[in-house]
Amino acid sequence: MSSIHIPTLFRRLRKAVEPLPKAAMFELHDEGYTTAFEQLVACIISIRTRDEAMIQMARALFGRARTPAEIAALGIADVDAVITASAFHQAKSRQIVEIARRVRDGHGGGLPCDREVLLSLPGVGPKCANLVLGVACGEARIGVDIHVHRVTNRWGYVRAATPEKTMAQLEQKLAKRYWIEINRLLVPFGKHVCTGRLPKCSTCPVLDMCEQVGVTEHR
Ligand code: SF4
Repeated sequence: MSSIHIPTLFRRLRKAVEPLPKAAMFELHDEGYTTAFEQLVACIISIRTRDEAMIQMARALFGRARTPAEIAALGIADVDAVITASAFHQAKSRQIVEIARRVRDGHGGGLPCDREVLLSLPGVGPKCANLVLGVACGEARIGVDIHVHRVTNRWGYVRAATPEKTMAQLEQKLAKRYWIEINRLLVPFGKHVCTGRLPKCSTCPVLDMCEQVGVTEHR
């Protein structure tokens, strides 16, 4: 069992990430891209793609088309041309336009805050569904990406082989008021402090609560 005191841990994490760039979807939300549809499109672009590149592509795409009707009208080739620096951009552009068409035709033009609907759309898995529900809809959901998965396992707070299993364990252990925030904090924390290789343990603000599971070398 880890000796983690969650309120203290979150307080320190908030302070640690204050000077760091925000997690991409939260940044886009703060810039006014607040709809569930915009957040979903951003999340799809972000898969296997660096946050910095995703933000630029999302801004460029939304500069041309933001609503499902506008993106459906733009078409696959034009969407692809904007997101071409994204991994799997051809598949993603097909998915994005197909989602736009379905939402335009089947949901009154706006994507509902409904997990089942989100998961029924092409290319949408639990991570993006939960991030959209958390960031755009304000629903208590845990968006477990690679950073949340890696860091919470290093703490010893969860012991899970996959992000999906980490999500299930976090849902059991973590109080709901932290569910949206944990992604917002651990994306920048995972990118800049608890990095994949050589985490910065010697200056880490939560070292005293961390079991450093699996960490063999650190800075
Ligand atoms: S002590 Fe090291 S492993 Fe633990 S959270 Fe900090 S940087 Fe990550």
